Amino acid sequence: MTAPVLDPVRLARLADVAVHVGLNLQPGQDLVLTAPVEALPLVREIAASAYRAGAGVVTPLLSDDEIARARFRNGRDGSFDRAPDWLYRGMAEAFDAGAARMAIAGADPMALAAEDPEKVARANKANSLAYKPALSKISNFDINWTIAAFPTAGWARQVFPDLPEDEAVAKLADAIFAASRVAGEDPVAAWAEHNAALAARTAWLNGERFDALHFTGPGTDLTVGLAEGHEWQGGASTAQNGVTCNANIPTEEVFTTPHARRVDGTVRATKPLSYNGALIEEIEMRFEDGRAVEARSGKGGTVLERMLDSDEGARRLGEVALVPFGSPISQTGLLFYNTLFDENAACHIAMGQCYSKCFLDGASLSPEEIAQKGGNSSMIHVDWMIGGPQTDIDGVRADGSREPVFRKGEWAR
Ligand code: ZN
Ligand code: ZN
Repeated sequence: MTAPVLDPVRLARLADVAVHVGLNLQPGQDLVLTAPVEALPLVREIAASAYRAGAGVVTPLLSDDEIARARFRNGRDGSFDRAPDWLYRGMAEAFDAGAARMAIAGADPMALAAEDPEKVARANKANSLAYKPALSKISNFDINWTIAAFPTAGWARQVFPDLPEDEAVAKLADAIFAASRVAGEDPVAAWAEHNAALAARTAWLNGERFDALHFTGPGTDLTVGLAEGHEWQGGASTAQNGVTCNANIPTEEVFTTPHARRVDGTVRATKPLSYNGALIEEIEMRFEDGRAVEARSGKGGTVLERMLDSDEGARRLGEVALVPFGSPISQTGLLFYNTLFDENAACHIAMGQCYSKCFLDGASLSPEEIAQKGGNSSMIHVDWMIGGPQTDIDGVRADGSREPVFRKGEWAR
């Protein structure tokens, strides 16, 4: 394995952004870090940055595609329903004791494409079950956590299939550095400015308290009712441990909870959706009373249908998010096959589970109260892109009056 050398200056800046902006790691705080083994150059920079910031103990956990494949090729059958429970229990214990969590995204999305799908599904299920207690501390936002990205060769091959591997990795690295805002001299200051801009957007939307958003564009005429007591979020937010962090590096979206029973009209996707290793193209849906009653697509129709039939909540929306067409990720024009990047390239909606943190006083609400206010629940949360250069959005107030929110893909004010 020969890895092309990445620009050490921007790699170190990305590490600093992940530690200081992504986590806002506190002096004395431990860090649990997971990453693909190819990301070791970034992991080393992150550990150094974390210790400079006064970290307690940094524990990296590296995964390797070759070893994962060796398991599926050589492991005995009974072993695929097992997971390292002890490790996940230890992670949950670390979070309870105040550790922060960082994940490096970018593993080869096709790493297990040639393995027995039944064994892979069994292993994934065992892993999800074992990881659940630790994961719930992340989804409840008990602790400061973040995801950043590293350009592995496998990921780069998928994004730039026609380029030699070295060039593909270099191009993906440029895109990651630009989107993560580490191209300039002082990325931490650039992030402070970006977070302030996102905070101004959410403050305006939270002040307006729109009853619904009306999206129009080619193939789209969709009214998305917003949940009662919804709250717009975006950029930095404060975890239950009191630390303000940026859970995603990069991030461009402001987002909130739609009303699961008040979505009506038609909507057309503006980008293909990469889901479970398949590509679903040209999605169109029609909603009635919050439910997707018709769904069509070009390629990937069977995968789309199976996704929508996951459970009762899978045909209803759990998120609506606004991203201007001029945002840096959108301007690359690339399909990244990675949600961290693709969902930050365009306005999107998500089928399935809503975020309880997107409600006023969300942490104090019971699941029943969230459902009553219009929050959806499902085992899936799948974002798909519906925004483009011709997207107009009106905010609709309870009295029916309207306010322009987006015009031609950009903020109207
Ligand atoms: Zn989103
Ligand atoms: Zn989402």
